[in-house]
Amino acid sequence: MPDAINLGDLYAARQRIAGIVRRTPLVPAEALSPLAGTAVHYKLETLQATGAFKTRGAANKILSLPEEVRARGVTTVSTGNHGRAVAYVARAAGCRAVVCLSELVPENKKAAIRAVGGEVKVHGRSQDEAAEIAFALERDEGMTLINPFDDPAIVAGQGTVGLEIVEDLPRVDTVLVPVSGGGLIGGVAMAIKAANPWARVIGVSMDRGAAMYESQKAGKPILVEEVESLADSLGGGIFLDNKWTFRLVRGLVDDLILVTEEEIARAMAFLLDREHFVVEGGGAVGVAAILAGKVKNPSENCAVLLSGTNVDSKRLRRIAAEQADWLDTLG
Ligand SMILES: *Cc1c(COP(=O)(O)O)cnc(C)c1O
Repeated sequence: MPDAINLGDLYAARQRIAGIVRRTPLVPAEALSPLAGTAVHYKLETLQATGAFKTRGAANKILSLPEEVRARGVTTVSTGNHGRAVAYVARAAGCRAVVCLSELVPENKKAAIRAVGGEVKVHGRSQDEAAEIAFALERDEGMTLINPFDDPAIVAGQGTVGLEIVEDLPRVDTVLVPVSGGGLIGGVAMAIKAANPWARVIGVSMDRGAAMYESQKAGKPILVEEVESLADSLGGGIFLDNKWTFRLVRGLVDDLILVTEEEIARAMAFLLDREHFVVEGGGAVGVAAILAGKVKNPSENCAVLLSGTNVDSKRLRRIAAEQADWLDTLG
């Protein structure tokens, strides 16, 4: 394993994943820019294959495996975007993917994994118990366990988002990135800071169970209680034995901001009603931070990463309806 990730790894990742991953557009935020008083742009990872950026990291990791290792298949423990990405990429790369889930995971999430070619194995009543199956597959069948964020190949894959932002907005000076385990912001910050060292890279999480925020505050990876949030794709810890992303965030990220459930709901409603974008809670936290006035001195060329689109449409419509009065106050 290398002892550092560098920009060359991001460019290598981009070439490796090109056949599987889409280059997504960066578009002007027509409705948000006037409210923010500056030129805001959206990076639309909502249009990425599987509906979230995680396909990038999964593709870079799986395509980096030696052929004979890849042929034994891959496994992971994830109810959400990571599980779908691993399944999708494995199918494209012609290998098996087993996604391990607990008995508590609802049928629609299992169906979403099967729909992109993944096998689902159910075990136990928690994520930790489900992980036992993944460890067994690794041990007994030689499958490769794909970490959702704390792996250099994952970080480099997610960092390709940052390479594209710099190409499309060369003078980018502020980038807002949703944060959970920190693979996305770690890779993106590498790309942005290499091109524009003066640019600010700001992470945004929900204010309930923000593991990276609390860990940075504590100066080391710590456990946080997991609570329900509209930003469900940002839940989960950063691993107590975190090897990569804690350090990357400490070194490269300028600020970490927290947003409330109400602010996330407003951002989802705003994106749907005013921009006509379907964005899941975890993908909308950057917009939430801007709308809430939590980004200080928004600069001239701001990019906001809309990291995923995977939200139940009934739920999104309900959220938008609940925010109708607030949307009216915007004029
Ligand atoms: C996983 C995920 C994130 C956070 O990525 P990390 O690399 O874990 O910080 C943000 N948004 C969406 C939609 C995700 O699925």
